[in-house]
Amino acid sequence: MDAIVKNFPASSQKQPQPTQQEVEEAVRVLLRWTGDDPEREGLLDTPKRVANAYRELFGGYAETTEEILGRTFEEVSGYDDIVLVRDIPFFSHCEHHMLPIIGKAHVAYLPQGRVLGLSKIARVVEVFGRRLQTQENLTAQIASAIDETLKPRGVAVMIEARHMCMEMRGVQKQGSHTLTTTFTGEFKANAAEQARFFTLARNP
Ligand SMILES: [Zn+2]
Repeated sequence: MDAIVKNFPASSQKQPQPTQQEVEEAVRVLLRWTGDDPEREGLLDTPKRVANAYRELFGGYAETTEEILGRTFEEVSGYDDIVLVRDIPFFSHCEHHMLPIIGKAHVAYLPQGRVLGLSKIARVVEVFGRRLQTQENLTAQIASAIDETLKPRGVAVMIEARHMCMEMRGVQKQGSHTLTTTFTGEFKANAAEQARFFTLARNP
């Protein structure tokens, strides 16, 4: 259970999971808040659909990266250079407005004798993406999950994303991208490694 607690936002532990009925009622309240009528035919099944969609979109709370990454890794002898998975698409939601964050992640590490299955890196991005997030925390969480589990010589994560809470409302900066990075180990200590990561991540 330790891993689950560690991987969860502390707040999510405090209250019991609401029932399906409670969630559907909450959606009906939101429908009324928009000005629409939850009793009209087109909206009758909407609360149920929204509840199910939320279960999927926020399915990251039910998973831990420890489970995904596992405890056994492929041992490699001979390859110790950068491993980069580029352009991993993700959909998340901002914790301030619960509106979509749409982006892609570039994740690299410098192996220390062992490597991850490449699909596992994308799964880590997905698990943290399917929670309420800030882009800064998402970037840091991906880096530290890989750093702590695989213990490589260094991890580099860069995320480029569009925030619908900025684009659809308020300041309305359509099409603007927010860029965040986190570096650990040799990527943090060594400017040349960092520069190499940027070159590999951004050049086609
Ligand atoms: Zn927001």
